[in-house]
Amino acid sequence: MANNLGLTVKPVTETPESEVKRVAAWINTEEYKEKNFARQALVINPAHACQPLGAELAAHGFEGSLPFVHGSQGCASYYRSTLNRHFREPAPAVSDAMTEDGAVFGGQNNLHEGLENSYKLYKPKMISVFTSCMPEIIGDDLTAFIKNARLKGFVPEDLPIPYANTPSFNGSHIHGYDAMLLAILQTLTNGKKVEGRCTGKLNLLPGFDANTGNIREYKRILEAFGIPYTVLADISDVFDSPNDGTYRPYPGGTKLEDAADSVNGKVTLALGTYSTAKTYGWLKDNYSGKHASIPMPFGIAKTDAFLLKLSELTGKPIPAALKEERGRAVDLMTDAHQYIHGKKFAVYGDPDYLLGLVSFLLEVGAKPTHVLCSKGTKKLEKELQALLDSSPFGKEGKVYINKDLWHLRSLVMTEPVDAIIGDTHGKFAARDAKVPLFRFGFPIFDRVNLHREPLIGYQGVMNMMATICNKFIDVTDETCDERHFEMMR
Ligand code: SF4
Repeated sequence: MANNLGLTVKPVTETPESEVKRVAAWINTEEYKEKNFARQALVINPAHACQPLGAELAAHGFEGSLPFVHGSQGCASYYRSTLNRHFREPAPAVSDAMTEDGAVFGGQNNLHEGLENSYKLYKPKMISVFTSCMPEIIGDDLTAFIKNARLKGFVPEDLPIPYANTPSFNGSHIHGYDAMLLAILQTLTNGKKVEGRCTGKLNLLPGFDANTGNIREYKRILEAFGIPYTVLADISDVFDSPNDGTYRPYPGGTKLEDAADSVNGKVTLALGTYSTAKTYGWLKDNYSGKHASIPMPFGIAKTDAFLLKLSELTGKPIPAALKEERGRAVDLMTDAHQYIHGKKFAVYGDPDYLLGLVSFLLEVGAKPTHVLCSKGTKKLEKELQALLDSSPFGKEGKVYINKDLWHLRSLVMTEPVDAIIGDTHGKFAARDAKVPLFRFGFPIFDRVNLHREPLIGYQGVMNMMATICNKFIDVTDETCDERHFEMMR
């Protein structure tokens, strides 16, 4: 092999072409799958990110909030570039760039210098601090460090600085999101609860969801109901701001005074029971009014449950316009069911998305055959299995918890499916299996605009149905023989 200087590079070990072919075929076999599933000490292409990435998403969801990574600069670049590539928007965040001396002596100096510079340079209304692996391993004490920063005058006494420990060797991005959201709400609502006061508003917690279209869809539904609301961690304008020639470092986000007053809300509704678990656990004991936590409204049944819950909690009837929309979604399901009925799917992703997507697939008569979560719990496994068992279309389905996308590849090569649902990381398995990949997840690096397309609610049902069925029709058109190439499908 010649390199770009024209010099021939001799491989360390010559691999004959026949051996390459043999191994390429072998990794598609049952024998290899068994070995792959026996793998313990290695993760290949996991379908989750580390805690701080989720923390950064939550931090972006508040007005004037500057996400601040206490830890390594390279880690901060990873979270920022992942968000930036997914949304195709800037993800402005800072890092105090701990290096070797910080690892030995602790990161207090880095944090103090970072806070002082960030406050002066970027003029945030709030600095939301979270940690990468390094300060977690050495055990940096953020409580003391931030208190000292205020005492030494690096930041004003009244600047909110919520902070969350987000150790990446535990959990995933959804847990980091939850931890940061909890810290922000605890900080902003501290001392703001007023006995007898009620904002009359509904607090909505969308959970970890990198789909700005979903957040806008929640708002549209609440407005159709006539329910005044506060979305807690509203990323919709932050990561979907208009391009009008002016750069704004903090576009949108939940207003800090609204977040502070959310403690006096009339109703609080958390969506996504897995990515808001800690926050919901705290606010149900601390927030006024009624509280509920329900699954994300994917598919007809879960959207029905969402609207019924809104009606029950607020006393408002379900608007006629939303009932009509439901009818249109059911009509599309009826019109298009033949293109999806009986089709086998491999689905992977975050727990809340998985529960929603599996529910949707079962409703439309598709078969979720391989359901995989690369960071999940026994509870999630049971919940997913119960969902599969509740439908005749789930009978062949199997749940794989704490398995990665290399496991998924073995599954789709040995027990084929018609399509895969997940994020961009699944494109390699989809290509090898020669099936379409539907990008209903996070992150999506290789397609445009999908983060603006709602997947939740009746509108989400219509979007997912149209995307899936039209792709299957495309495949038929592209692969059928001449005499079956029809005008009508
Ligand atoms: S896992 Fe740890 S080292 Fe890796 S990017 Fe996340 S915080 Fe940094």
